[in-house]
Amino acid sequence: MFDKIVIANRGEIALRILRCCKEMGIGTVAVHSSADRDLKHVRLADESVCIGPASSAESYLNIPALISAAEVTDAMAIHPGYGFLAENADFAERVEQSGFAFIGPRPETIRLMGDKVSAIKAMKASGVPCVPGSDGPLGDDPKINVKMAQEIGYPIIIKAAAGGGGRGMRVVHSEATLINAISLTRAEAQATFGSDVVYMEKYLENPRHIEFQVLADQHGNAIHLAERDCSMQRRHQKVVEEAPAPGITPEMRSKIGGRCAEACRKIGYRGAGTFEFLYENGEFYFIEMNTRIQVEHPVTEMITGVDLIKEQIRIAADKKLSYTQDDIIIRGHTFECRLNAEDPKTFMPSPGTISQFHSPGGLGVRVDSHIYNGYCVPPYYDSMIGKLIVHGDSRETAMARMRTALGECIIEGIKTNIPLHQDIFNDAAFQAGGTNIHYLEKKLGL
Ligand code: ADP
Repeated sequence: MFDKIVIANRGEIALRILRCCKEMGIGTVAVHSSADRDLKHVRLADESVCIGPASSAESYLNIPALISAAEVTDAMAIHPGYGFLAENADFAERVEQSGFAFIGPRPETIRLMGDKVSAIKAMKASGVPCVPGSDGPLGDDPKINVKMAQEIGYPIIIKAAAGGGGRGMRVVHSEATLINAISLTRAEAQATFGSDVVYMEKYLENPRHIEFQVLADQHGNAIHLAERDCSMQRRHQKVVEEAPAPGITPEMRSKIGGRCAEACRKIGYRGAGTFEFLYENGEFYFIEMNTRIQVEHPVTEMITGVDLIKEQIRIAADKKLSYTQDDIIIRGHTFECRLNAEDPKTFMPSPGTISQFHSPGGLGVRVDSHIYNGYCVPPYYDSMIGKLIVHGDSRETAMARMRTALGECIIEGIKTNIPLHQDIFNDAAFQAGGTNIHYLEKKLGL
């Protein structure tokens, strides 16, 4: 096992990784920007290294600085967390070439899955159901593209192969705007992602977002850990997640989850990963794979009892998975609310000093957050300040528990989206379960 790990991230996920390392008896190196000296995990880590100024480009995205932090502290591995460099194949490659273990998939896999066209191809070949589409990059012949769209059937969506963060996509409702939409998306994709490769997909009008968690070791073992429903979104950003997804039968779970695990074995996947699907009219359609730990991983941990970060670290250290598929048993129901420092109505970020923080607690309540009394939320990074996670025997119990926890949570000095979460947990359609990805924006009148 590694004796020391560099945590190449900040905020709640850095603290989550630190806690796991401590439990496993692994030494920790916190790296931070000059604006992040007061982060909770920096104070708790065995060692810390300042890797640059506040700007992420010069600190958390600064590959040479991160590698030297590992060198000077004599660490053995680097955990990238999520965001920043977590899905950057060049970073993973540099980490490995410098003699450290990258706690994540092999660089080739990150590259394969980072290109959505090649990801879809690989998934189709492994029997994972995909959205009907162009089966590859679009060419320049308008006649062929028009015919293809006709065959798929409008509405369709043009997507950038290198796209991410909900950008580089355009919905087309009729042939009149098709050709123009392709060239606009191509130009945007080139400008934003440095590649003008685009493809075409059927646009699903009212889907839910359901994703499957997987774990795969370097000995050919791969398992799925059921699904999460992340349909409660605003601007493609998840707001609330739950597991299991309402209405998904054990048969569907084991069929789709089994295909995901099989795909992992076929592509030689390593580590934790997520297969994202759109779910409509009882069918699953793969849209992309995330080759990292996700923000919403705790909901899976709470229903399965598996520590996903621990498994990631063990896998990177070449250990076999601690579980077989039969060991994965779902117990109860879990919700997660992402707590953001923002105005609950306008969504404007609200950085500043937290004058009072009272954490909720009690049976089945988990708070993954780096905030404390007097902590100053810096304006430079993502506005998420933590996650409130609850578990209960049933969806109803978990929901009631979340309402109680939200009511107990006091964060003063900055604005937070707690009132928005309270609205969501009092919403009749959400209570009934199975709302689609447009529901929250419609409710908010957006
Ligand atoms: P990104 O990498 O930018 O997150 P995704 O491929 O995961 O891109 O798509 C992001 C979101 O865009 C999805 O969650 C969904 O809301 C919407 N979307 C993408 N593809 C489709 C599709 N074929 N039909 C309907 N909505 C889609």
